Amino acid sequence: MSKVILENFKEIQLAIPDHVKLVAVSKTKPIEAIQVLHDAGQRIFGENRVQELVEKHELLPEDIKWHLIGHLQRNKVKYIAPFVDMIHSIDSERLLDEVNSQAEKNNRKIKVLLQFFIATEETKFGFDWNEINELFSIRNPEIFESIEFCGVMGMASFSNNQNQVRNEFKKLKQIFDQLKQTYFSSSSSFLEISMGMSGDYQMAIDEGSTMIRVGSSLFGSR
Ligand SMILES: *Cc1c(COP(=O)(O)O)cnc(C)c1O
Repeated sequence: MSKVILENFKEIQLAIPDHVKLVAVSKTKPIEAIQVLHDAGQRIFGENRVQELVEKHELLPEDIKWHLIGHLQRNKVKYIAPFVDMIHSIDSERLLDEVNSQAEKNNRKIKVLLQFFIATEETKFGFDWNEINELFSIRNPEIFESIEFCGVMGMASFSNNQNQVRNEFKKLKQIFDQLKQTYFSSSSSFLEISMGMSGDYQMAIDEGSTMIRVGSSLFGSR
């Protein structure tokens, strides 16, 4: 198992440019598989469920940067607030408030990405431009003192239509540019566009991704 994982890891490292960060999506995968990649130098791991994230954090090395990439319920923020490195899935004002308040309680800043709805499937989460514009025009991002806004995240449609997926990536890049210009022009941390998964990370990078979230191409299918 570990040989294949390491081969996959090398292949992906070769395929992505230096400015693109790899989030190794380890959901449902055992501790041993994560340890293999950690030993090979990978430090950012992504999980989509809070309980699994908390359990793995307790068992694995302290220098891992844990990213929460899946939908987050407000009542669970407190469990990850002490240690989570970045939350990719901020999709409502109330969630943002809760993360800010839990970060403050833990005397730290939490890095977040604003998730945008770019797909056609109703099952996916995220803001649209009007919502975020309305929120920040009333409450400037600086109000959230324990939050470090690092950029945006999006999930493209689950589709074989390459054109459609490409257009969704383009849309997220546009939103990022617009947000940066309007609300984060003086920010030194608003830099990341988290888009692209196993099936489409090459295209996502072409369209401006700075952070890809790769699970099955690394660890094998779930
Ligand atoms: C599972 C997951 C991924 C990784 O998907 P793969 O196709 O296995 O690479 C990326 N992003 C999110 C939000 C996920 O839940």
